[in-house]
Amino acid sequence: MQAVRTAPVVGRQLRRLGVGSSWPRALLGQPPLGLARRPYASGATQESKSFAAGMFRGQLTTDQVFPYPSVLNEEQTQFLKELVGPVSRFFEEVNDPAKNDMMEKVEETTLQGLKELGAFGLQVPSELGGVGLCNTQYARLVEIVGTHDLGVGITLGAHQSIGFKGILLFGTKAQKEKYLPKLASGETIAAFCLTEPSSGSDAASIRSSAVPSPCGKYYTLNGSKIWISNGGLADIFTVFAKTPVTDAATGAMKEKITAFVVERSFGGVTHGPPEKKMGIKASNTAEVYFDGVRVPAENVLGEVGGGFKVAMHILNNGRFGMAAALAGTMKGIIAKAVDHATNRTQFGDKIHNFGLIQEKLARMAILHYVTESMAYMVSANMDQGSTDFQIEAAISKIFGSEAAWKVTDECIQIMGGMGFMKEPGVERVLRDLRIFRIFEGTNDILRLFVALQGCVDKGKELSGLGNALKNPFGNAGLLLGEAGKQLRRRAGLGSGLSLSGVIHRELSRSGELVVQALEQFAAVVEAKLIKHKKGIVNEQFVLQRLADGAIDLYTMVVVLSRASRSLSEGHPTAQHEKMLCDSWCIEAAARVRETMTALQSDPQQQELFRNFKSISTALVERGGVVTSNPLGF
Ligand SMILES: Cc1cc2nc3c(=O)[nH]c(=O)nc-3n(C[C@H](O)[C@H](O)[C@H](O)COP(=O)(O)OP(=O)(O)OC[C@H]3O[C@@H](n4cnc5c(N)ncnc54)[C@H](O)[C@@H]3O)c2cc1C
Repeated sequence: MQAVRTAPVVGRQLRRLGVGSSWPRALLGQPPLGLARRPYASGATQESKSFAAGMFRGQLTTDQVFPYPSVLNEEQTQFLKELVGPVSRFFEEVNDPAKNDMMEKVEETTLQGLKELGAFGLQVPSELGGVGLCNTQYARLVEIVGTHDLGVGITLGAHQSIGFKGILLFGTKAQKEKYLPKLASGETIAAFCLTEPSSGSDAASIRSSAVPSPCGKYYTLNGSKIWISNGGLADIFTVFAKTPVTDAATGAMKEKITAFVVERSFGGVTHGPPEKKMGIKASNTAEVYFDGVRVPAENVLGEVGGGFKVAMHILNNGRFGMAAALAGTMKGIIAKAVDHATNRTQFGDKIHNFGLIQEKLARMAILHYVTESMAYMVSANMDQGSTDFQIEAAISKIFGSEAAWKVTDECIQIMGGMGFMKEPGVERVLRDLRIFRIFEGTNDILRLFVALQGCVDKGKELSGLGNALKNPFGNAGLLLGEAGKQLRRRAGLGSGLSLSGVIHRELSRSGELVVQALEQFAAVVEAKLIKHKKGIVNEQFVLQRLADGAIDLYTMVVVLSRASRSLSEGHPTAQHEKMLCDSWCIEAAARVRETMTALQSDPQQQELFRNFKSISTALVERGGVVTSNPLGF
């Protein structure tokens, strides 16, 4: 058996990202590995409870996914029900998304109304003036916002999901008491300032600097940030800047990122005009400049030099909210598509009777079901105290943003020319949605994260196996278990994995599809790690396909879990959910099978990757398309 030293190498590389590596992968989305990870010693792994991490190891780690979690107690459920009505009514009766879009700002009446509803401090503890919601309750409310107005959603999200989330997660008691009450009431607005002109996905490469004063009482902050949501409205900024930090081990001075809470009132904070954008026009986006700002030392957020971790935790913590909001968007859009399909007659028939329209509507409903199931699965895992949800949260953001785009695009198709008109408001939603695949970690970077984070865990296991082989008597259990599994898998005998007993028996066929897909996926992960070893970090064509496989696998399991619960509890929609779930599993499993088979054995796949590289290189050299017009001029 071949041992691979992948994990330590990949882990080191990932960690280096926090200290200025030019390899821009881990970026927007994950705490530096090793901080929140499990200790691994001589092959014995203290295993993650993450289903997604388990998939890469060929395991069904069911703790966090089965049964579908229900985390709200009676009191929390009742409280949430009391909020859902007024918030929904507010968006139906007061907020005007078309007007906000046209004015390119959120109407004052909406802002005031939202402040009165407590919408600016949903997760701030009640003793500090907030509503004190857990993640699941928060998800339910942002789902309503996402149904109605993504521009308002970003105004609220930039404030609380990223703007002051750092104070909630990392703030000292004094920082919380000083800032949170006014932020929760909306008296002050917050923004999150990470991106700079030369630093987007490669967040570790920021240039803003904060130099400590000789007396140690303050830092002098200089730098400029671009595309900051709420940048022109905010009074309180979570700002990331490089600070000199002495390495405890070597005594050498290094530049490391530190997070600060910066008040506009400190002086030296200015902003540019609102950016002109394709979508979410109602949300303010602006450059923010920090010019010799004196930031008191007590405004450091988290540890000096620990800013990268702060940024990644904030972003990780907010991803489920994006999935929840986009599930809401899809729900609203599907209602519009159904309304049109039900009322529009062509060729003497209502168009919903045509197979092509039926397939579109069904696919839209499936994408919504998957996204919604995932958003509440991740929020519940977080509420249950899980610290192993980073891969799942990244998947929920990737999937939700792409599903919402597809659903809205198909709605426009169902509506025909009417969908292209401004009046029904669907074109606005499509414009608004485009940015969700880009900000808070582009979906491309997050795909790399999903694949590499999974590979790190698998690599650790393989490297552990290598160690175990050196000491076979001390690690007999590990070897028997792992070697047996790998031998069975390689001999095509299956791994002995099964979901029977955890999923409802009516879903057993879909359960088998998941298991087969997972076995094939894990075999490919193992083969690729053995082949590429540490070089896996540069195999982006492979990593993208592994990420897509991981997304399909996790989403299948999530809907299996939710549909199982509905069947077991006899929900009125249980049979409908079974259809949504089975349909998703049939197609997702087929995609995994096809992609993994190609990665495993298809020589054309290598040719394809080589071609992609060469075609792209030629385009770059040529400055555009290489071929000439077929007419020759
Ligand atoms: C409307 C709006 C609001 C925003 N709000 C905020 C905010 O509130 N706070 C904030 O800090 N930032 C904010 N941003 C910035 C946003 O987070 C960044 O745009 C995003 O992180 C991507 O960075 P970039 O645009 O510089 O793209 P780049 O990082 O330059 O990426 C360009 C392309 O290259 C790809 N790419 C980059 N590196 C790699 C790699 N190693 N391998 C493969 N592909 C790669 C990317 O996926 C992308 O497709 C906002 C942006 C917009 C447009």
